[in-house]
Amino acid sequence: MIIENFGVIYFDNVSKIYNSNSIALKNVTLEIKPHEFVSLVGPSGAGKSTVLKLLIAEERPTEGRIFFDGRDVTALPVRALPHLRRRVGVVFQDYKLLSGKTAYENIAFAMEAAGHFPSEISEMVPQVLELVDLAAQRDHFPHQLSGGEKQRVAIARAIINRPDVLMADEPTGNLDPVNTWEIVRLLEKINELGTTVILATHDKQIVDHLGRRVMTLEKGELVRDEERGKYIL
Ligand code: ADP
Repeated sequence: MIIENFGVIYFDNVSKIYNSNSIALKNVTLEIKPHEFVSLVGPSGAGKSTVLKLLIAEERPTEGRIFFDGRDVTALPVRALPHLRRRVGVVFQDYKLLSGKTAYENIAFAMEAAGHFPSEISEMVPQVLELVDLAAQRDHFPHQLSGGEKQRVAIARAIINRPDVLMADEPTGNLDPVNTWEIVRLLEKINELGTTVILATHDKQIVDHLGRRVMTLEKGELVRDEERGKYIL
């Protein structure tokens, strides 16, 4: 690995056509540097989720290549995928928590799966619960948590293995304004602590508030990429 590429995401002329012949991405070239906070915006169906899925090799591009650390993600053998996916944490609109596990256990489970020792788990999980302001809810099951709290557990789980990148796919889509702003502030805090954040959203208010880099997708094409952008409909 070339050291100056560490954590750099690069899409080289990427197109994605799903089996059903729908064109999800068309000749997308983009670069995201470590520690950036990027909003990926565009209407539903514009290709935002596809960008995120391609980065963690959950989907393969039809054309073009995707690099992380200067390594071609599309050429990684299956056995290298768990390592890639530990370096890129993901949160979704619908949280995807395990309903039979408490907040603590949901987060601990991600560390167990990554092969950490019990002593590391019992040290780290309370720290991350503190970071997302859920220390008091550690033994609550998902059904005992509000939407905003569930999303904070999901974020804690996504960052517990210290990924280089956190991708959030419409993380506030199910939340009211108060909880939405808490999640946005948490993502900003995680970014300040050094993690690259990619936020896929169609919430204009959030994007305009952030005042950070904005990439706009329309029908699979990257139509704008601005350093301090606004959400232009
Ligand atoms: P967004 O996240 O911006 O809503 P997506 O990346 O989910 O957009 O979808 C982009 C386009 O690709 C849409 O037209 C969608 O219907 C299509 N698409 C996404 N996933 C699949 C799939 N698994 N099979 C077929 N078409 C898909």
